[in-house]
Order: sequence, then structure tokens, then C-alpha cells
Amino acid sequence: MIHHSPSSPKSVDFLVIGGGIGGLSIMRILGEKYPNAKLVLLEKEAELGQGTSRSDHNTGTGHTGAFYAPGSAKATAANEGFAWLRDFHIEKGLTLRNIGKIIAASVPGDDLYLEKYQQQAFANGQKSAVILSGHELRDNYEPLLSKDITEGLYLPEAYLFDADGVMKAMAEDIRNKNGIIETNHKVMEIKAISEGWLVSTQHQEYIAKHVVNSAGTHADRIARMVGGGKYWKIMPVMGSYMELNKVVDWRTAVYEPTRNPPFLGVHVMPGVNGKPFMGPDVFFSPLRERTGQETTTKQSLFKKITEGADNIIGMPRGIFSMNLNALYPNLQFYFGMGKKKDGRAEIWKHFNREAFARDAQRLINSDLLELKGSDFTPLRSGIRAQAIDMRTGKVLQDLAKEEIINPLNHTSRFISDKMPGSPGFTASVGKARWMTETL
Ligand SMILES: Cc1cc2nc3c(=O)[nH]c(=O)nc-3n(C[C@H](O)[C@H](O)[C@H](O)COP(=O)(O)OP(=O)(O)OC[C@H]3O[C@@H](n4cnc5c(N)ncnc54)[C@H](O)[C@@H]3O)c2cc1C
Repeated sequence: MIHHSPSSPKSVDFLVIGGGIGGLSIMRILGEKYPNAKLVLLEKEAELGQGTSRSDHNTGTGHTGAFYAPGSAKATAANEGFAWLRDFHIEKGLTLRNIGKIIAASVPGDDLYLEKYQQQAFANGQKSAVILSGHELRDNYEPLLSKDITEGLYLPEAYLFDADGVMKAMAEDIRNKNGIIETNHKVMEIKAISEGWLVSTQHQEYIAKHVVNSAGTHADRIARMVGGGKYWKIMPVMGSYMELNKVVDWRTAVYEPTRNPPFLGVHVMPGVNGKPFMGPDVFFSPLRERTGQETTTKQSLFKKITEGADNIIGMPRGIFSMNLNALYPNLQFYFGMGKKKDGRAEIWKHFNREAFARDAQRLINSDLLELKGSDFTPLRSGIRAQAIDMRTGKVLQDLAKEEIINPLNHTSRFISDKMPGSPGFTASVGKARWMTETL
């Protein structure tokens, strides 16, 4: 039941749902395009950036090019967002470390991925992507790289960014330009009305001409409030990292090729404290968010229980509402069923640190640094928003949005971000431009 304050609805031109990097970028782009428009952003938590965008919920690397199909919306958005993010760090004096990236061929057959990634990097404008021998990589970029790595693709520009600093600075810019940001405002109901969309939170009603839904892992739920989200669903997937308990001089972001998405292989990253972190393992998550509710103090115990229950019930409801074509790949993925071994291996790795250490050792020279399960401490984890087409069961790969036109006035738009996944931080400003191009 929604308890509205007695105040009358506020009218705005654009209303953005979600105060992560996605929503903040949309506010920025709309503010640039329409400097005199009335803009409001609603965030359910007490602070901004408590979802996937929070710095301890993602890897925090700015990267472009190599992984994305040339000409795709994702590749274009990643290029624009990457350049913007780099310049914004410099403009605001935020810490930005260029660590470079190696995509290492760690098992037979990986050389084919390197060639593909290099072609993609070239086509996406990263002309400096170069395939180097294992020796060259160890001598010049990562001395601790495993001796078994015979070659790798080196990308000279890859950054460790300051996610929290970026979001704070963006929010400040938005507020300075009269954009309104309301935290502790959970969108609970949305109705089409002749003036646009009537959006209700627990405190206030808004009449918005247009709405952009950037609610991350909750985006499908919000879309369903206006009759959207019929054929797509966000399936939350946990991505967890371990930190090495030792300080070692690991300098470069080293990734394995993504052989069997959505499994990501191993990533080894330099830590800001000198302790490298590794992962992410990919594990089924019954929850849509990790610790977002922690900002809302004790009143949230009941909320945690009810939201947790809703998520847990929602997961099988989502899975079993798929048709059979869609169901089987998802059972394979989420529960490691069927012939695909990767699902089972990921689940095993999630619980067994020795298995995690063995995987990480593929990238690290065991003569210089021998890894055991006891060398690791759980570090960070975040919920990846895996968007699934419910008709085919396939995970959406490119950026995707859903636009609903208000059935009463035929002009107001409701745009949902269907794919809030990686590289959502890097790409954010480019993606926001693409999301709002019809507004
Ligand atoms: C393990 C992992 C590693 C990653 N690594 C990288 C990387 O290296 N580089 C990169 O670029 N990207 C990476 N990503 C992806 C990136 O973090 C996300 O794509 C990005 O943070 C998504 O931002 P968002 O604003 O769309 O979602 P979020 O940050 O989740 O924001 C959504 C917001 O909506 C709010 N919300 C939800 N429901 C409501 C409601 N009803 N009313 C009001 N507000 C609501 C939430 O509270 C939240 O604040 C990674 C992600 C994970 C999980």
C-alpha cells in the first residue's frame, strides 16, 4: 500500500529512475540537450550509487574495443564513454591509473580469440592493440605472468577508475545545474495518464512527460509497471572476487578470453593496496542487489526479509515462466545442469578455494608466486544484470532498450535500459546518449 504525502503531484519534463552511473549519465545528457527542462532523478536508497555501480561491487576497469562487435551499440557507447570517463577524472582531479590490459592465451585454442579481439579492437579504433609473445609480455608489462602463457593481446589503455568519486562529482554537477536528485524515493507505481506518466514513490507523486528507467537489476520490474518487460527479464548473477593475502608487484589487468559467455574466465587485477584481486566467479544469485539496503538503517530489516523473499520467489517464477527452448540453457547456466561443464566448474569454484587458486594460477608464474586456497580472502562481489530474452533463453549481448509510448497521449515515452550489464560503467555516457536519442 502506498502512503502519499498530502502535497500535490510535481510536474517535470523528464524523470529518471535509478541513481547509479546509468541514471546519473542520463541526467547529464538530458541536461546538456535541454538546459531549461525540469529534470528529476529518483533513487530508492539513502545514498546514490549503492547498486552495481558502487566501487566495491564491480571490477572498476575502463576498457573499450576488443571485446565488442564492431558497429554494435555497445562498442560505440564504450568508445564514447571511455573517453568521457578519462577526461572527467582529469577535469575533477580524481585518481585514474592506467594499468594496461593483457588478454592472455592460457589454454590451447586461445590464439584464435586473440586474433578476433585484435581485429575488433582495430575496427573499434584501438589501433595500438598488439599481439606479443609471452616473453615480451613478461619483460615489458607483467613480470609475474605465467611461463605457460605463450602469447597475449596487449591493450595499452585500460584504467582503474574511481567509481564513487565519479558518481559524487556527477551528482554535484547535476545539482549545480538545477537538476533534482531525490534519494530515499522508491518508485512503487507508475500509471499512464493523459499528461504523461504518474510516478509514485512512498513520499511524492510526479507527473512526468517522459521517463527513463535505469534501475539496474530492477529494470524489468519497473518496466512491468507500465506493461513492458513481457519478453525480457533480468536474471541476477553474482560475480565475486578474492584478494590475495600478500602484497606483490602485479601491474597489469590480465584477462583470459571469454570462451563461453556468460562465464568470464579468470581476471587478475592490481589492487590499490598492492594486493592483487582475482575473479569474478559467476554464481547464481537469488538476490537482485547485494548490500544496497545497508544504507537504510534498522527500519530495513523487514524490508530486507520481504524483498529477499520476493527475489527468491521471483527467480524460479522467472525461470519456469520461460518456454522450453529458453528454460534449458538457463538451467544449464544457473544450476550447472546438462552437458556444459563450465556451469558446474563455476559453482564448484565458488565454494572451493583450492579450485579458485588453481584457476588463477593459469595466469601467474608458480615459481614466483605459488597459490593456495588459504592465500585468498573474499573481497568484493556485485550482482551482474544478465538480461535474457524469454522467448529464446539467450542472454542479450548488445545494448538494448524498450520504448513504450503512452497509450493516452501517444507522445510521452517510457524508455527502459534492458541491458545494464558490463561495461555499463565505462560506457555510461555513450549509452545514455543512445538511450535518449528519441527524446
Ligand atoms: C562483478 C562485476 C564487475 C564489473 N566490472 C566492470 C568493469 O570492470 N567495467 C565496467 O565498465 N563495468 C563493469 N561492470 C558493470 C557495471 O558495474 C554496471 O554495468 C553498472 O554499474 C550499472 O549501472 P546502473 O546505473 O545501470 O545500475 P546500478 O548501479 O545498479 O543502479 C541502479 C539504481 O537503481 C536503483 N533502483 C532500483 N529500483 C528502484 C526503484 N524502484 N526506485 C528507485 N530507484 C531504484 C538502485 O537502488 C540503484 O541505485 C561490472 C559489474 C559487475 C557485477
